[in-house]
Amino acid sequence: MPFVRLLIVACILLIAAWMPPARSETTRQAMPETMDMLRHAIATQTVEGKNQVPVFAQYLAGKLESAGFSKSDIEIIPVEHTAALVVHYRGSDSKLKPILISGHMDVVAANPKDWQRDPFKLIEENGYLYGRGVADMKTNIITLVETFMRLKREGFVPKREMILVFSGDEETDMASTRELAKRYHDAEFLLNADAGGGTLDAEGKPVLFEIQAAEKSYADFLLTVTSPGGHSSEPNPSHNAIYKLAKALDAVAAHQFPVQHNEITLASLKALGTHESGALAEAMRTFAAHPDDARAAAVISADPAYVGQIRTTCVATMLDGGHALNALPQRADANINCRIFPGVSVASVKATLAKVIDNPAVSITVRPPPPVESPASPLRPDVMKAVSATIHERFPGVDVVPGMSSGATDSMHFRNAGVPCFGVSPNFAKANDTFAHGLNEKLPAKEVPAALDYWHSLLTRVTR
Ligand SMILES: [Zn+2]
Repeated sequence: MPFVRLLIVACILLIAAWMPPARSETTRQAMPETMDMLRHAIATQTVEGKNQVPVFAQYLAGKLESAGFSKSDIEIIPVEHTAALVVHYRGSDSKLKPILISGHMDVVAANPKDWQRDPFKLIEENGYLYGRGVADMKTNIITLVETFMRLKREGFVPKREMILVFSGDEETDMASTRELAKRYHDAEFLLNADAGGGTLDAEGKPVLFEIQAAEKSYADFLLTVTSPGGHSSEPNPSHNAIYKLAKALDAVAAHQFPVQHNEITLASLKALGTHESGALAEAMRTFAAHPDDARAAAVISADPAYVGQIRTTCVATMLDGGHALNALPQRADANINCRIFPGVSVASVKATLAKVIDNPAVSITVRPPPPVESPASPLRPDVMKAVSATIHERFPGVDVVPGMSSGATDSMHFRNAGVPCFGVSPNFAKANDTFAHGLNEKLPAKEVPAALDYWHSLLTRVTR
């Protein structure tokens, strides 16, 4: 080997030996920084009307920069009174479409007077974390940001680009979500940290993990009847707006939309049927094998918790009518809230309501904002496999099944824009144990290190 080449090789070897190896961090090492950020996140009141989402986004951007993300990889998009945060983790193969990872930075309002503890202070008690947003969904925002920081410090380079897309008004208008879906719909798929997740039984043992692959569309219809009115001492029952509306509501209450299924609901009912017992479980198993079995469909439909899995549902939720105790009503209104099966149009549901009510005097209008129709996402074996493998690291053998939720998450706007979306929140909880949106919201404290393990493992798996 000529001397010059030898010298070059020696130099390369020397530099390689001098460069510190990529530092691998453990979840235990990542915990103090994570808890600090979570404390700050809960204290930042990102409720509607306080303009704190842009401040929170700025805080997260600063943290990411300190871990090595360049300013040009971080975008804060102002949208009305809120903001969206976008973070690019560039991949080695720029020809591959990116994977989006979504979440929301805002929280539902909380009145400190009603809470047992300060909702905007992270408090740990008896193995639980308390505070507005610990479950929905600041813990996942922070564990995702920490995982991006950790992977960057470790020198990890994904093959495919990963992009964090955090909205700022998921709980209210979703204007920032619409903006994100408009800008970032050219993606391979999206992982939503605010949907799906694991269920624990009463003893705290894992039952199953659901990947949300579909959600129902949400629509409100306003029924209105008007009548001439007049003095209440001179009633005319055939010209009474309240009576006409009452009849219309009776007709809606008696109507059942047709039974439907897709690959997601069949897989989900099959899994639920094997975990439950009794007549309902048997009906679920039968329906999963024979979706045209009317008896099984009737048993499932009789259960309010599951009827929505096999039909579009519509229900009266608000009522308003009349203007004086001693006057005939001139107007009566009702709101009908519908959860529409994926693939069914809002227009066809409106047509069905009109047919069922069968009275042209009842006007039916779709209430704003315009409903977003969201198709079911086709199940991807690569996503199912990566999520299963990650869940099994924590809970070996637990069933990982696709599921359809009642809506409406950030995913609906991305599904509407053509991006397959999968809700894969790492959190396991007992049924009705987190009080998301409610009083004294809580999350088992051990879900924080579990989420750090999960995101680190899942994100390196899906972008390899
Ligand atoms: Zn949420």
